[in-house]
Amino acid sequence: MILTVTMNPSIDMSYQLDQFSIDSVNRTTKVLKTAGGKGINVTRVLHQLNEPVLATGIIGGYLGEYLVNQMNEQLIPSDFYKSTQETRNCIAILHQGQQTELLEAGPTFSKEEELSFIDHYTNLIKDVSVVTISGSLPQGLDSDFYTKLIKIAQEKAIPVLLDTSGKALIHSLKNTHAKPFLIKPNQHEISELLEKPVATNFQELKNDLENPIFDGIEWIVVSLGADGAFVKHNDTYYKADIPTIIVVNPVGSGDSTVAGLAAGINQQLSDEEIIKYAMTTGILNTMEEQTGFINREKFDEYYQQVVVQKY
Ligand code: ADP
Repeated sequence: MILTVTMNPSIDMSYQLDQFSIDSVNRTTKVLKTAGGKGINVTRVLHQLNEPVLATGIIGGYLGEYLVNQMNEQLIPSDFYKSTQETRNCIAILHQGQQTELLEAGPTFSKEEELSFIDHYTNLIKDVSVVTISGSLPQGLDSDFYTKLIKIAQEKAIPVLLDTSGKALIHSLKNTHAKPFLIKPNQHEISELLEKPVATNFQELKNDLENPIFDGIEWIVVSLGADGAFVKHNDTYYKADIPTIIVVNPVGSGDSTVAGLAAGINQQLSDEEIIKYAMTTGILNTMEEQTGFINREKFDEYYQQVVVQKY
């Protein structure tokens, strides 16, 4: 079973407006309220792939209950640690082809709550074969928090796929005792990590991935949007080419890619198959309106069109 960790989930509210007027009243009947957060997207896609999955993280209050109810309705198993603090709302206003977002920072967790969650996670991890950790850290948790989760999994030889950025990512790369098994940065995140401009060709990207900061990470999957991905697995490099498609909504493609990677790794597929799997789930997400959502029926058609070659 795959355990997905979302430490800062949200209820994502999307309001569709014909026109957005600032400093005025805007009314809409087109409202969507869904369980959100990068790890929740990963969970949803894994569930759609019929992969055994369990979602965890911290939720709280009325919105936390709403989130779990939503997942229950979709028959997605979850076991969150319950805090007394309310889960956050994230608001997206869709207007004139544009998207204006209002993102709450979310609750600030105490040391006690951190330790209680770690106990909860340690109990859950007994029955899992792969862990995914996605998204930003909530306030109150130090940048080494993900490293703590990785270490607990590593002691049980469970691979951890980490999809985060900023300080939390840098800390987990620099820690020499517990490394993630896989990271999935995009090019922007690689350039932020190495404090250099985005690579302009694959040879340069390959050189970037040889940087000592990545030592000890078995898989680095650099997703390149419409250009597929450039992948390092130990000392082997791969380039994945994907078909041109009509994009409906690319938000959540990275999360969908992580779900594909987790599924492929959980099924112990070959390198090429894991990469094809992940590209397919990424592509399928861009073809749907809903974030972190795929149409499983189109899987085989697009899987056949992904080309993975050693670089
Ligand atoms: P992130 O959302 O993390 O920045 P990317 O934008 O690189 O991730 O997208 C992840 C994956 O989703 C890509 O590797 C690809 O498989 C798929 N994808 C993203 N954008 C497109 C697109 N425009 N056309 C086809 N596939 C896409």
